[in-house]
Amino acid sequence: MTVQRILIVSGTHGNEINPVWAVKQFKRGENSLNYGIEYEYIIGNPAAYEKGCRYIDVDLNRSFKESENFNQHKNSLYENKRANFLVDKFGIEGSKPCQIAIDLHTTTANMGTSIVLYGRRFKDFCLAALLQNKFGLPIYLHEKDKSQTGFLVEAWPCGLVIEIGAVAQNFYDQNIINRFLIIIKSLREEIDKLKNNLIELPKELIVHVHQGSIDYPRDEKGNIDGLIHPERMNQDWKLIKKGDPLFLNSQGIIHKYDGDQLIWPVFIGEVAYKEKKIAMSYTKKEVISSDNQWVYEFESL
Ligand SMILES: [Zn+2]
Repeated sequence: MTVQRILIVSGTHGNEINPVWAVKQFKRGENSLNYGIEYEYIIGNPAAYEKGCRYIDVDLNRSFKESENFNQHKNSLYENKRANFLVDKFGIEGSKPCQIAIDLHTTTANMGTSIVLYGRRFKDFCLAALLQNKFGLPIYLHEKDKSQTGFLVEAWPCGLVIEIGAVAQNFYDQNIINRFLIIIKSLREEIDKLKNNLIELPKELIVHVHQGSIDYPRDEKGNIDGLIHPERMNQDWKLIKKGDPLFLNSQGIIHKYDGDQLIWPVFIGEVAYKEKKIAMSYTKKEVISSDNQWVYEFESL
């Protein structure tokens, strides 16, 4: 078997509206079948999208956990019901099975166009390598963080997040929309080229591996007492070392990075992560040699 259907999810977070618009625009100009691959489109969280908020009860993109199916209380939450619906319909054993899920997000951080991977699945590596090769996109590899699990794309055999910013929540930006359009348009084409041996995977995949997240400085009452330092603003993916400024508090005191490791911060000041007590996440750069097994597993999807 090969890839037959790709699920394109927009509005997983209801206040990230540019992907929803991009899909609307894309659907107007495209045939449903191209390169033998069909796209399915769905708004991940329609109730939150209608209200212009991130979610109704809980974050949908942390709600795809198998064990939750057995939890009666959690099943009454809107997003958990929605997660089950999406898997029942578009999951690999669903009524309209999709082999790949692409989840479209925006961020208020200055991340540019980037790919987010969850764990080290070879099929994901293959797809990410195709996109990194074509567009030179940075990849954030999220793994081993027990406080953050249940991501949508993990419920499919292959899948990744496209994360584009900076753009404010609930604010339309045609430049951001155009970037989504380019990615959606080229997905099937790149997969088709790989299938027909017209391209090879690059020799290596460059990833930024999640190391952990840090909170804002807080006062004794737990209120935020420090903002992202001006020198750190918009500097996502840029290397920092010991002594570089991170935050500036209300008395003008600078909080500095005091680790010994070289670190590449991402999601700097992301608005949606304030509630998660995340001011930025730390990553470490890693180069992974590509492997024929990636293509082999991808083609057997
Ligand atoms: Zn999002």
